[in-house]
Amino acid sequence: AKERGRNRICSYTQEMNESIQKRVQMEQDLRRGIENGELELYYQPQLDPHGGGAVGLEALVRWRKGDRMVPPLEFIPIAEETGLITEVDAWVLRAACLQLKMWRDQKQQMVPVSVNLSPRQFQDAYCVELVRKVLQESNIEPGCLKIEVTESMVMHNAEEALRTMTQLKAMGVQLSMDDFGTGYSSLSYLKMFPFDQLKIDKSFVRNVTNDPQEAAIIRAIIGLGKTLGIKIVAEGVETVEQYSFLVRAGCDLIQGYFYSPPLPVAACMHFLQEDHLW
Ligand code: C2E
Ligand code: CA
Ligand code: CA
Ligand code: CA
Repeated sequence: AKERGRNRICSYTQEMNESIQKRVQMEQDLRRGIENGELELYYQPQLDPHGGGAVGLEALVRWRKGDRMVPPLEFIPIAEETGLITEVDAWVLRAACLQLKMWRDQKQQMVPVSVNLSPRQFQDAYCVELVRKVLQESNIEPGCLKIEVTESMVMHNAEEALRTMTQLKAMGVQLSMDDFGTGYSSLSYLKMFPFDQLKIDKSFVRNVTNDPQEAAIIRAIIGLGKTLGIKIVAEGVETVEQYSFLVRAGCDLIQGYFYSPPLPVAACMHFLQEDHLW
């Protein structure tokens, strides 16, 4: 029995070492990947269901690692743990603003771009300076940039978050509360913070057509948005049934595979040009 116990400990330590090694390797690869320009932005169009077409784009990062596109959920958590997220988010912010500048220089229609910032990044006073610098470099209209932060971030350090947001708002940047409903924010926070937009998390949208409770929650969130003058976006909209429900409930913007998946930049431009079909 003792022998077996020792073996178990051995294999446990071995597994732990392997998983630590994998992380260290991943971190090294990611660091190098950022330096080598392996990050890429995809853009997911957001639809104004009342005939406005694509009125927003969410920038979603991808990592081109060899011939594989690594999705963010595989590397953002590690980037957050190791602090590399600062570099990832700075890269994303810069890339999105340079893209906006390029569209403007090419006289394309300007669709506001949303960028996700990690809680860790956002807590930092550096965040405000970074945004200021990137806006200066790209010389784009600040209102074309929308920053998405999660409600857990707001809750984690409300005072700091409020300061950061107030400063960003003063620059003319738009603010969006992401993943709404998944955290613990009290509704009073919504009133206190200068959000332009609130995104209903896709976990709520998923069951909206077969779960009356979820449907009621979504109706309540939309009502709240109307009262507070905040635009409501539904994410993860996949079916025509979900779409119809949300539009009937008064949702302002629709994002999801039903309208379009996240697209590489060339495909996104093509999509925007064909968009009058909607
Ligand atoms: P999120 O901000 O909630 O982004 C929405 C996610 O839902 C995206 O996954 C998007 O591709 C996916 N999605 C869009 N439409 C649908 C749909 O109809 N059905 C379903 N099931 N999913 C849909 P993605 O691109 O894998 O990103 C996952 C998460 O990674 C994001 O969740 C966000 O939290 C994070 N992330 C993505 N890009 C960045 C970034 O540049 N910086 C940071 N800090 N985080 C990022
Ligand atoms: Ca988001
Ligand atoms: Ca979400
Ligand atoms: Ca998110």
